[in-house]
Amino acid sequence: MNPVGAHMSVAGGPSRAFQRLEAVGGECLQIFVKPNVQWAAADLSLEEVHRFQEEQARTGVNPVVAHASYLLNLASPDAGLRRRSILTLALEIVRSARLAIPYLILHPGSHQESSLAVGIRRIASGLDQALKRAAVPEVGLLLETTAGAGTQIGHRPEHLRDILGHSRNQARLGICLDTSHVFAAGFDISREEEGEKFLEELDRQVGLGRLRVVHANDSRTPLGSRADRHTHIGEGYLGRGVFARLLHDPRLAGRPFILETPKGPAGDQSRDAVNIRTLKELRR
Ligand SMILES: [Zn+2]
Ligand SMILES: [Zn+2]
Repeated sequence: MNPVGAHMSVAGGPSRAFQRLEAVGGECLQIFVKPNVQWAAADLSLEEVHRFQEEQARTGVNPVVAHASYLLNLASPDAGLRRRSILTLALEIVRSARLAIPYLILHPGSHQESSLAVGIRRIASGLDQALKRAAVPEVGLLLETTAGAGTQIGHRPEHLRDILGHSRNQARLGICLDTSHVFAAGFDISREEEGEKFLEELDRQVGLGRLRVVHANDSRTPLGSRADRHTHIGEGYLGRGVFARLLHDPRLAGRPFILETPKGPAGDQSRDAVNIRTLKELRR
């Protein structure tokens, strides 16, 4: 069975995310391990790490995964920004390890005025450098499929294949499938046949064994829009069918399905509860 859950706020400390998830019936969790739109991060205290472990044990939530900061761009032609991205990724790997989080998910990067090929090589060497600097063996890095906005890399399976191919740390790398991004990138996974073709292509290029996490989001923008806008399950262009199919696909057995759908005003999580209930119905 696939555990279903959501990305939750860590306001007040990472351990607080468990209560928020519990309130909406989630079984697996995604968090940011540092503020996602600023470079700096306060230290993770021993007390907070301990509280986090206690809360995970109390709630039985499994797995917990991390999503890297939105500021990172390992493919950047700007040497300073790229260096900063590598150092910050290393820090996020270390913080994930301290919280015993097995996977850190990141967007591969944008090549900007460089070529796609150069961008891909920069990402692979950036991942290698961050893993070396972090020097913790436990955390795997998952490259997320992207919508392909601007010069974003990762909207085609062969991009992910080539990043893996250029890295010296293939055993530490995997992928995260975001349903809304794949659809926005032009793969019509709302239709059964097209969805199957896409999974077969992903299997051929990367191997579905490397697919460790699914981001379960409906899409507010149409097929091929290359725009990244998530909406509630069944309320977008994808519809419920694709989620039912993925939740019953034996090739994805056991993978966590994590919502990144909009919260209501002032942190209202009632829509998370509805979406989680829907995913639980669809996996029956
Ligand atoms: Zn993401
Ligand atoms: Zn995502």
